[in-house]
Amino acid sequence: MEKTCLLEYTREALTALMADLGHKAFRAAQVLDWIWKHRATDFAQMSNLPPALREQLAERFSLRPLTVVEVSNSTTGSTRKFLSRMAADGHLVESVIIPAAEGKAGSRSDRITLCVSSQVGCAFGCKFCASGLLGLTRNLTASEILGQILAAEEISGTRVDNLVFMGMGEPLANMDNLLLALTQIMSPDALNIGARHITISTSGNVPGLRRLAEFGKPLRLAVSLHGASDEVRSQVMPVNRKWPLGELLPALEAWNRTGKHMITLEYILIEGVNAMMTEATKLARVARRLNAKVNLIPYNTVEGLPWVRPSESNCRAFAKALSTAGVPVTMRYEKGHDINAACGQLRLRRKNEQEDI
Ligand code: SAH
Ligand code: SF4
Repeated sequence: MEKTCLLEYTREALTALMADLGHKAFRAAQVLDWIWKHRATDFAQMSNLPPALREQLAERFSLRPLTVVEVSNSTTGSTRKFLSRMAADGHLVESVIIPAAEGKAGSRSDRITLCVSSQVGCAFGCKFCASGLLGLTRNLTASEILGQILAAEEISGTRVDNLVFMGMGEPLANMDNLLLALTQIMSPDALNIGARHITISTSGNVPGLRRLAEFGKPLRLAVSLHGASDEVRSQVMPVNRKWPLGELLPALEAWNRTGKHMITLEYILIEGVNAMMTEATKLARVARRLNAKVNLIPYNTVEGLPWVRPSESNCRAFAKALSTAGVPVTMRYEKGHDINAACGQLRLRRKNEQEDI
């Protein structure tokens, strides 16, 4: 039988488990300390637990849900991707480590942002996205999300202090596991990362947005918009047929009423699809309505897909049109430096990954 990973056990869950196993409640606090303070990887390390408890735990539970099988160094020396194999069934997911001091040549940052995956593959099938090409294999468990963070800290020797859900998968389509992972990520018992250091990126799953708002934490929200009219958006994002802008934008307005931070609208610029000046005007209107900022991502080539990145002057003119209209806008050009581009292409073959990142 597959062992359950203890990373997703909250203090309450561990306390209940101790009672089930016939041990005192204070053992839960000791186990939490071993997992999160000492980063134990083996129950044998938990020296202040009775040997019988250690054995009971080792029989039924694990402490790591995945193993890192490859770490690729960025050719530019900044971002680093790593590939993890899931202990449960051998599936692979990727995560990307981005040092905070990116750009300062040669400096080693003591702060890192981590881009995590939430699913193996993705069911949403956006037409520009490598993760969507092969469809959804399965959801990641909360422990498998948490395991990526521990792995990144082990690889970098640094605490993760910013987290973005922009890797493989649609986080809001894996809601129960996402919320449990977030609970542990924010818990002072576990990773203790503040909500404002966590960004959830979604392709616009409307019921998911509602549930995330009900969760009530001041998380940051990024929305993959990529089209400011239903016509353009449906062309590249099939999810827009299910939840068109007429539903998505009111859901985002509702988020704004509870959210504490400005929404970021992600917008991949694709030649001949959404990079025309007429689209910039529509995007500015949407951004102003939502009081949102826009992050422009010149399309990164995905093998086997027909789309083309617009010229640099087109991208700049598009950005200019937005800022002239009063919309805060950012754009990143360098390949692989942009975390979205880096994470959006998790399924590229290894050779391409090393060229791109
Ligand atoms: N499913 C979520 C989160 C994962 S995708 C979402 O769609 O928001 C993370 C980001 O990578 C998204 O903004 C996505 O649009 C972007 N992305 C996907 N493919 C890309 C490509 N070829 N070039 C640049 N960005 C890409
Ligand atoms: Fe899925 Fe996001 Fe890729 Fe769309 S962009 S296929 S929602 S991972």
